[in-house]
Amino acid sequence: MPIYEYIAEHPEDPERSCPMCRRGYELRRSLEREPITRCLYCKNPVRKKISPVSVPRLTAPLSVSDAKKAGFTVLEKRDGGEYEKL
Ligand SMILES: [Zn+2]
Repeated sequence: MPIYEYIAEHPEDPERSCPMCRRGYELRRSLEREPITRCLYCKNPVRKKISPVSVPRLTAPLSVSDAKKAGFTVLEKRDGGEYEKL
């Protein structure tokens, strides 16, 4: 029986994933059975992981506060033409 690995469609969103599908988990499914489309635990959409090679994901922070949380220095251009460190 093949083993499939499933992972959350939105692992970055805690409201649409649970600790299980955020990490991904393996399920043994017989070939005749439909692949699952929803997490067994939280019922949120999951997708089958095709290979261990991860698809490049958007990792850029979405906002200034995210960027700062991620340890980036955020510079903003001020009217005077100088960059102010936020
Ligand atoms: Zn889940």
